[in-house]
Order: sequence, then C-alpha cells, then structure tokens
Amino acid sequence: MSEGTPLFRGYEVVVGLEVHTQLLTKTKMFCRCENRFGASPNTLVCPVCLAHPGSLPVLNPQAVRLGLRAGLAAGCTVNPVSVFERKHYFYPDLPKGYQISQYAHPLLSGGTLRVRTSAGDRTIRIHRMHLEEDAGKNLHAGIPDKSHVDLNRAGVPLLEIVSEPDIRSPDEAVDYLKRLRQLLRATRVSDGNMEEGSFRCDINLSVRRPGAPFGTRVEIKNVNSFRFVHKAMLHEIDRQIDAVEAGETIRQETRLFDPSSGTTKPMRSKEEALDYRYFPDPDLPPLRVEETMVEEERRAMPELPEHRVTRLVETLSLPLADAETIVGEEALAAYFEEGVSLLEATPATRGDKGRERWLSLVLSEVLREFNRRGEGVLSGVTAPSAVVPLVGKVCSGDLSFSQAKEVYQKAVEEGVDPLAIVSRSNLAQISGEGELLSLVEAVLAENPSEVDAYRKGKDRLFAFFVGGVMKKSRGKANPEKVGEILRAKLGSPSS
Ligand code: ADP
Ligand code: MG
Ligand code: ZN
Repeated sequence: MSEGTPLFRGYEVVVGLEVHTQLLTKTKMFCRCENRFGASPNTLVCPVCLAHPGSLPVLNPQAVRLGLRAGLAAGCTVNPVSVFERKHYFYPDLPKGYQISQYAHPLLSGGTLRVRTSAGDRTIRIHRMHLEEDAGKNLHAGIPDKSHVDLNRAGVPLLEIVSEPDIRSPDEAVDYLKRLRQLLRATRVSDGNMEEGSFRCDINLSVRRPGAPFGTRVEIKNVNSFRFVHKAMLHEIDRQIDAVEAGETIRQETRLFDPSSGTTKPMRSKEEALDYRYFPDPDLPPLRVEETMVEEERRAMPELPEHRVTRLVETLSLPLADAETIVGEEALAAYFEEGVSLLEATPATRGDKGRERWLSLVLSEVLREFNRRGEGVLSGVTAPSAVVPLVGKVCSGDLSFSQAKEVYQKAVEEGVDPLAIVSRSNLAQISGEGELLSLVEAVLAENPSEVDAYRKGKDRLFAFFVGGVMKKSRGKANPEKVGEILRAKLGSPSS
C-alpha cells in the first residue's frame, strides 16, 4: 500500500466517496409523478410524494433495473433480497419526516472500478450500491427572509454508490468520479448532470502517517463539481494535518464545502448526531429480485467505456489518450465510429491514412464545436455521412487537410453541406505537375541566396521553400507534391 502512495506534508490521505446519482426513470421511485428536472415548483407532485396520510408507496421496477445495471457494470453481487428502511430526520424538504433508503440489506454488494491515473492504473473497490429516494429542495434565492420548498424532486430515485476507503489523493478521487460518471452515462443509468444535481458526492477523508492505522474521518457533504471535489479535499487535507501537528485530535464530524472561500466548515458533529432510527418500512415488502430480470439486464448491457477504449486502441490503433478523449463523450464516440465504418466502405479512404485524418478532424474541429454547441453538431450537414467525404477529398489529394478543416468550419457556421462549399469556393487543391513546377521554379528564382545556402548544407531552408510555394498558390498547392518537386529541383544539401 505504501509504495507509490502520494504523501502530503509526510501524511497519507485516505478517502472513501459516497456518490448519489439520480436514475433515468420516467417516473419517481414510489409514485407515478414524472421524474424531470426544471419544471415549475411543485407541479410534479401527488399525495404519495407530498406525504398525505393514507397514501402508500408502490415501487417503480425501472429504478430496480437501472440499479442492477449499474451494479452489474461494476461487477457487484446482486443480493436476491434487499430491504427498504425508513431513515428519520427533520428537514423542511422531507415531508414524511423520513427518507426511504436501504440500510442493513442493500441491493448490491462489492464491486470494483478501474481507474487510469497519472500514476498508473488503480482498482478502487466499491463497498455497496443501494436504492433510495431524493428529498425536495429549499429555494432561498431572490426571496428575502423566506425559504420556499419545491417538492418536484421529492421521491426521485437515487442510487447511492459507496466506495471503500481506497482513494489516496484528490487527483485519484476526481479520476474515480469521472470513470463512475462515464460508466453511468454509457449504461444510461443516469445523465450524470452535475449542474442539475443528478450526480453529487460526499467525501470521507482522513490523514495518517504511512503505516499507521486509519485516522478519524471527516465527511464533506454534497459537493457537486469535479473542481470543488478537488479544492475541498486539498483544503481539508491541510486543515487535518495542521490539527494533528498542533496536537489536536480530529473530531468525527460533517462539514460543508464553501466554494466562495474554498474552505470547509462544520455542519453537525457525528457524536451528537441524530439517531436516524432506521427500521424496515412496513409499507414496502422486502425487494426480491427475479433472476430473469438480472439476466435481461446482463444481456442488454452495452459495451462499457473501458472496453471501448481498449477496442479502439487495439483494432483501430488509436493512441490511448485519443481513445480516452473520444470515449469520454458517448455521442462523440458514436460519431467517430460511424465515420470509421463509412471510411472503410470506400476503397479510396480505407485504412490507416483515411482513419488518421478522420481522427485528427474529430479531435480538433468536431470536438471543439461539440464542446461549444453541443450534440447538434453531430447531425445534419455535419453528420459523419456529410463530413467523411471531405476526408475522401484529402485522401485523393483534391484538398489539403487545413482546407478540409476550413470547410468543416464553414459548414458548421453556415449550415451548408461541406461538399457544396468545396465546389462553390473553387478550393480544389493544385496537384497538376506542370502548374506546381512553375510555382516551384518561381520561388527558387526569387530566392537565389537561400537556394545557395541550402545547397551548402542549410537544410532547414527546405520548409522555407515549401512555405513560399504554398503562399504563392494561396494555400492551394498540394504540399506533399510540392515537397517532391522541390527535392528533385534542389538535390540533397551537401553537409
Ligand atoms: P457510514 O456513513 O454509514 O458511517 P461507513 O462508515 O461505512 O458509512 O463509511 C462511509 C464512507 O467512509 C465509505 O466510503 C468509506 O470508504 C469511508 N471511510 C470509512 N472509514 C474511513 C476513514 N478512516 N477515512 C476515510 N474514509 C473512510
Ligand atoms: Mg454515510
Ligand atoms: Zn408523486
């Protein structure tokens, strides 16, 4: 454990994460209200999620399915019987006075997540995953001296994913969270939207001298961005080490991260923590998971991100970092792969050359537009079927790669088919020997002293001549052919 473990001021950091992720069901967990973000307050409610007396919860099987899917994707064990319990506490966004959760008997146990970190591959163990319902939301903004309560979120299904205390640094925590979010998105368990609160995280953190037993942990509640997770941890690490160095003992407590100050502040202490008085919910029978449902979810499992990365590296020879970038966005990965099959379908673009150009185009232009404008740029006039022909033009020598990029840009901006832009703007690359030869000769004639210097061994000037020809042709000359002709004309430099 100690070798390769990062140290902070001589201390080891021990972290376990509890992630709450909203499940992509159509309706809530125990009633048929719509599960949707952004509706006007208190429009998606009914007697069940408003806790009217006499209303009874009915479990949504889709929530169970999505929980199973996440668990299977992370190699968890499915517990054939799990139990919903009531977790009691008071807060205005919790009308029942308790949250329905799973406690002693969760839906899923064990599991692992492989994480690629800058320090190499690490396996983080998952302790458990269980189902529970979300609470409503208190609204404070823009209402002086008052808080309002929106119960649209009350009863939305959550999966809580609890890691073992295997994480050893803020970087590793962020890598774990990104992997987990990617897995949940790829399996369509959750949209993982952190701004909308569908992926939130509690950080349990302690410090110790290498080799010492685990220290007392502090829990930082509800951190909702990767950046804040990182910042909160760095601050908390320093705070705990300062305390230990000053001879204080760390108190087990719950703290909140304050993004404006970048610090954590105490929320409530765990020793005096309320007793949640968990007990099995008498309105809900134990959850028995049918083997057929598990099998269906297992069979319907899409390709997992980790596997997809490996496949792209092994079968398409993509560099690992590029494969990670592409698989990082599900929609971009689908776009890239659709393009690859189109390239393969045509002899002129089949093979490494076409694929390398397609990869560069996707990683530069398409990715930038995707980040700027969203998934829209992956369809319509910039769908693979419209953009791949541009790569074809590059392969046949009709366009330079930089021209292809420009055309792609124009297509996005104007909403016009790329090939229409090519024919409209007379972009066709100059590849004819005769025309190129006269351009080369003109450039050499204009620069006699450079030609002389080149022949005497200053071979760096080669790029200068190529540049001169490209400029003269207003970027339309085929650079590879220009190089060939130049080499023939100049001979090799004597050095
Ligand atoms: P509970 O919140 O019910 O007390 P646990 O004690 O099982 O739950 O732990 C909650 C989280 O805290 C888990 O993610 C676990 O990995 C992590 N954890 C447990 N002990 C430590 C520790 N000493 N330092 C840091 N994290 C810890
Ligand atoms: Mg906890
Ligand atoms: Zn409802």
